[in-house]
Amino acid sequence: HTNKKISIIAPFFNEEESLPIFLEEISKITEKLTEYNFEIVLIDDGSTDNGLNFLKKIADANKNIVVIELSRNFGKEAALTAGIDIASGLAVIPIDVDLQDPPNLISTMLTKWEEGSDVVLAKRENRLNENLLKRLSASFFYKIYALFVGNSKNSNVGDFRLIDRRVVDNIKNLKEKNRYMKGLLSWPGFTSSEITYTRHKRNAGKSKFTFLKLLNLSFEGLTSFSILPLKLFTFVGLIGITFSVFFAIIILFQKFFYDNFIQGYAFLILLILFFGSLQLFGIGILGEYIGKIYLETKNRPIYIIKNRYN
Ligand code: UDP
Ligand code: MG
Repeated sequence: HTNKKISIIAPFFNEEESLPIFLEEISKITEKLTEYNFEIVLIDDGSTDNGLNFLKKIADANKNIVVIELSRNFGKEAALTAGIDIASGLAVIPIDVDLQDPPNLISTMLTKWEEGSDVVLAKRENRLNENLLKRLSASFFYKIYALFVGNSKNSNVGDFRLIDRRVVDNIKNLKEKNRYMKGLLSWPGFTSSEITYTRHKRNAGKSKFTFLKLLNLSFEGLTSFSILPLKLFTFVGLIGITFSVFFAIIILFQKFFYDNFIQGYAFLILLILFFGSLQLFGIGILGEYIGKIYLETKNRPIYIIKNRYN
């Protein structure tokens, strides 16, 4: 009888301070779960610090630790994709190395998995440890996302979750280059359950996601999973046309039946400005999607592996 293999996958970028503590915490948890065999896949997303050297030594001594070195920084979404492609466990658990995703949830996830959930989501119960801007923007994003994509199950759920092998194999079939992982991880569906947790502060180091990067990621998420923004402009255009017809009738009426009809300079300028910017905005949205098509057609690899240890 062999133990079930579980893969823990952790992408990292310049986390030399967090890595030792992360591995220690993980081994504390995995040692207790003796009915499983854990494979820990660490993906170095082009770090420039000494984290990789440290991990190489660890991997030498421990065959369950797989270290993947990417050829440069590809971003967390790509690094996570590499991890998912490489993981061989019956269940896969993506986790951050900064201990913001508490490793002790892993045992609860496994229990739920054994009870029949294909996906166990870890939902952030509150964001008391994050600043106001991040909290407000996150809640705004999840509202918009739910509206556009119609999936509210994923509000306040990060990449931290357990995913059964069957689901992982389906995720691996999603070969798109524009990768909003939270969306892709959820896309296959299957039976999911939830556990809640309080998100801790970062263990060491600084967040790699600036506000601008997050904004970018949210655009990525929305446009990768919804074409509603495109359709929205058809709708806005239709409303515009309807208004224009009514307006034309009123204006023609005024022109024929009133003498000193010319007036309304301010209104005219405002109309021009408003519709000018609305058109630019619409073209911008179009551009977002065309850009995506362009990137997809180039069909470049999502990541490049430079070295693999174990
Ligand atoms: N990360 C990565 N590549 C990047 C940026 C981040 O692999 O280009 C990793 C990072 O090391 C961490 C995880 O992604 O393990 C989450 O990043 P971070 O903690 O900076 O984001 P936050 O938790 O603040 O959203
Ligand atoms: Mg973090």
